Amino acid sequence: MPVRTCIGCKKRYGVGNLDRISFAEPDVLTVGGAKGTGKGAWVCAGNEACLEKALRSEILSKRFGKKISFSVVRHMRENC
Ligand SMILES: [Zn+2]
Repeated sequence: MPVRTCIGCKKRYGVGNLDRISFAEPDVLTVGGAKGTGKGAWVCAGNEACLEKALRSEILSKRFGKKISFSVVRHMRENC
């Protein structure tokens, strides 16, 4: 299983324990769901603290290589 770093707590986990963050649409941040397209970032699955930290910080902008702004956060997690 691939290992990725949570951008909230910076710890490394297998992707099965992480939720993917990506932009399905320019204005919509999608959390979870394996079928995100384009660049992605990862946060601990179901960990609101990590997600909040990721969304508050500039980490996302750095990760995606551009200024990030969004008005909608859509949770796509299917297996819970
Ligand atoms: Zn985390």
